[in-house]
Amino acid sequence: ARQHAWEAGGSWVGRGFLEWVAGDTPEAAALRASTEIFFIPIMDVDNVALGAGGKEAVPRDHNRDWDTRPVYPEVAAAQQRVEALIQVGRLRCYFDLHNPGSGDKQPFFFGPMDYEQMTGPRRASYDRFLSLCVQHMREPLPILPRYRFATYVKTQEERDRMSGNWVRDRTPARAVAMTLETAWNTPHSTQDGYLHVGQGLAKAMAAWLRE
Ligand SMILES: [Zn+2]
Repeated sequence: ARQHAWEAGGSWVGRGFLEWVAGDTPEAAALRASTEIFFIPIMDVDNVALGAGGKEAVPRDHNRDWDTRPVYPEVAAAQQRVEALIQVGRLRCYFDLHNPGSGDKQPFFFGPMDYEQMTGPRRASYDRFLSLCVQHMREPLPILPRYRFATYVKTQEERDRMSGNWVRDRTPARAVAMTLETAWNTPHSTQDGYLHVGQGLAKAMAAWLRE
């Protein structure tokens, strides 16, 4: 969470995710027995400490720093850990937690840019994962039942260094990498609302990993 420092809702979504994972349900216990989960509550530590926004930051937006020579040490550290998990075939899910623009009234995923051209097992993974999210991410902030795409990032070079795309380019068809944008400008965009979004995401992930 918090590749964009001011998107505090992302941290709360992450907390809701972890609280469900740490909870007493048999589904959570089964998930813990079979899965290792890494959570970074705040990526852009400096801008959070300063109270700055972070989006489109100079010299780079944190979430567009994912290339071979990242500017930010946090990105380099996250890349190393993620890459190590990918190398040994242990990365199944990657989620980057954000809050979107003020006009967005429902949580949604930015999916793979090449989703329309995807076929076979990779497309099946993204379709199935989304349908489980629709099933589990309901009240009070239901997930949009289709992917959106971060087309506001204009060049391919810049798209390639967004974290979700960076991870997706390195993982096999049985993995998903997504950006969750949780609406912040609604009456339900409270700590409690965010916790429920995170809880729903965790339930969907657990269901997907069981299949
Ligand atoms: Zn963001």
